[in-house]
Amino acid sequence: MQRYNIITEVGDGTFGSVWRAINKESGEVVAIKKMKKKYFSWEECINLREVKSLRRMNHPNIVKLKEVIRENDTLFFVFEYMECNLYQLMKSKGKPFSESEIRNWCFQVFQALSHMHQRGYFHRDLKPENLLVTKELIKVADFGLAREIISEPPYTEYVSTRWYRAPEVLLQASVYSSAVDMWAMGAIIAELFSHRPLFPGSSEADEIYKICSILGTPNQHTWAGGLQLAASINFQFPQSGSINLSEVVPTASEDALNLISWLCSWDPRKRPTAVEVLQHPFFQVIIFPMSFRTTSDDALTRFMA
Ligand code: ADP
Ligand code: MG
Repeated sequence: MQRYNIITEVGDGTFGSVWRAINKESGEVVAIKKMKKKYFSWEECINLREVKSLRRMNHPNIVKLKEVIRENDTLFFVFEYMECNLYQLMKSKGKPFSESEIRNWCFQVFQALSHMHQRGYFHRDLKPENLLVTKELIKVADFGLAREIISEPPYTEYVSTRWYRAPEVLLQASVYSSAVDMWAMGAIIAELFSHRPLFPGSSEADEIYKICSILGTPNQHTWAGGLQLAASINFQFPQSGSINLSEVVPTASEDALNLISWLCSWDPRKRPTAVEVLQHPFFQVIIFPMSFRTTSDDALTRFMA
């Protein structure tokens, strides 16, 4: 750690605090996550999920783990530095994001998810605080809860922030999959439009209540598996009809609303995969790179013509 100058704290989460720091030798700015738990051997560190999953993933939209340091039984992760997280950006920016900004970010996140899911990992804790932004670039961070799809169920330990938690996780399914990340993305996209969480439950029961009040109570047709899950834990769904998503996310286009509803399908098997999402009409527009746009507006007009 002598090799770094620690500057300021930029985040404090469940498992560690994150600091902005500078590599004294190279001058490079990095983010250092200091883990709260003590680690008494290297073996323990190397086996951590965050280390195992991040070391295997190399993608422009997944935050890069540069090194792992263990000093005096304290574990530090050194990451590339990102300017802020999406939650901070939503809070600090007074006006809503434009649909093209949202589209650009989501396109990148789904590419990262497609990469992860195809390599057999799912994140399990996607939320605005775990999506880091620098200018136009967005990266998925915080792999503390990532897990290998092939690893053995049941997955019963603490999982994910409530507002973005998929219904099968709320109903304590012992087996679930990458579809939990798709659910979270549906809730996140809606929030990017409205700057308000889509399902802000104040408890687990209230979370299900909030979902029912928008999607309508699930039935045999929409989620037969969910009725079985509920029965197995003696849970009764609150009775509610569905509402039009456009009532809660009024600024989203038809394509965006259609994508959000698909992602937030009650039944995990009905949700799209990341690869399918990337083919959705919401993303079927020409995205001009910024460099092209700034070179000359004339060039853009000519190109469009
Ligand atoms: P936790 O497991 O404690 O939630 P995170 O890895 O999500 O830890 O980090 C907590 C916060 O620290 C993030 O929400 C973000 O604001 C900030 N942070 C994390 N990694 C970076 C990074 N590479 N660059 C800049 N800020 C970061
Ligand atoms: Mg986090």
